Amino acid sequence: MKNWRSNQFKQDVERAKARFDLSRIVGRHVKLRKAGNEHVGLCPFHNEKTPSFRVNDAKGVFHCFGCGAGGDAIDFIMNFEGREFVDAVAILLGEEGLPEAAPRDRSAMVRQEKADRAAAVLAAQAEWQDTRSIKGTPAELYLASRGITADVPATVRYGRVALWRDKKTGFGGRRCSALVLGAQDRRGKIVGIQRVFLTEDGQKMADMANPKLSLGQIRGSAVRLAPPEKRIILTEGPEDGLTLRMKSHKVPVWITLGTGSMPYVDLPDEVEHVTLAGDNNAAGRAAVERAAEEYEAQGRRVDAIFPDRRYEDWNDEHLGIRMKK
Ligand SMILES: [Zn+2]
Repeated sequence: MKNWRSNQFKQDVERAKARFDLSRIVGRHVKLRKAGNEHVGLCPFHNEKTPSFRVNDAKGVFHCFGCGAGGDAIDFIMNFEGREFVDAVAILLGEEGLPEAAPRDRSAMVRQEKADRAAAVLAAQAEWQDTRSIKGTPAELYLASRGITADVPATVRYGRVALWRDKKTGFGGRRCSALVLGAQDRRGKIVGIQRVFLTEDGQKMADMANPKLSLGQIRGSAVRLAPPEKRIILTEGPEDGLTLRMKSHKVPVWITLGTGSMPYVDLPDEVEHVTLAGDNNAAGRAAVERAAEEYEAQGRRVDAIFPDRRYEDWNDEHLGIRMKK
């Protein structure tokens, strides 16, 4: 079992890493300047004002002296875009889905993907164990700044979470304050988390390239703001979900963490009626259409609600922030 990764897959991985200069991959997201035989820029994995992020094209590696982030092209994509290993390889090879490979190699990739996913779920559960109540934390201040002042349920927590995840050693590097939401599977078990990285004063989301990152099994799961009932409301984002919860206290609100996963929540049988709470934009409307088809096909009653047309989402409506024309 030691060498189960086939040669073809190994070659794909090497080809993926070598395909582009790393500075070109990183350079799409980070402004880099040449410094000797390296490139330097502001680290996308932590908030900084003087550049401590270095990219070495000759070695195909990057390293941040500020937060400890480091690795190759695959590590960069995994962490920057929140992807798993096999997806990062596929992105680098420029192909849709899995890289082309013989059936034998494909089974090696499927095993790798399963292992990735299992590891991500365990990592999410470990981070979840370390969270605590938002009372008196930057997460409470952040939610208050979004007009969310009600008590929050047990699936909404505060944590000092790692900014950087190393695929070999687990979590590492600097930790940052975050609002952490626990996503549950059909049976109610936590299988994933969403982290909303915050400034230490809780005034806003951290000034990072990607302040909202999920980890673990997101597709199929949902952040339940109350236990299941005959009717539930499904919405996309944490702030929207917590806003709706204040307005519709009797109907449980569940958060799908992204438009892409709205149609795929693995709902318990007792849920007979799903109200889809969409955003007022093309992606939001498309997600509602798609989700309606899916849940109707499962024999459930479906309807949809949207914010007043002057507002893009439920939290904007709550705060009176009008859509830009
Ligand atoms: Zn850094």
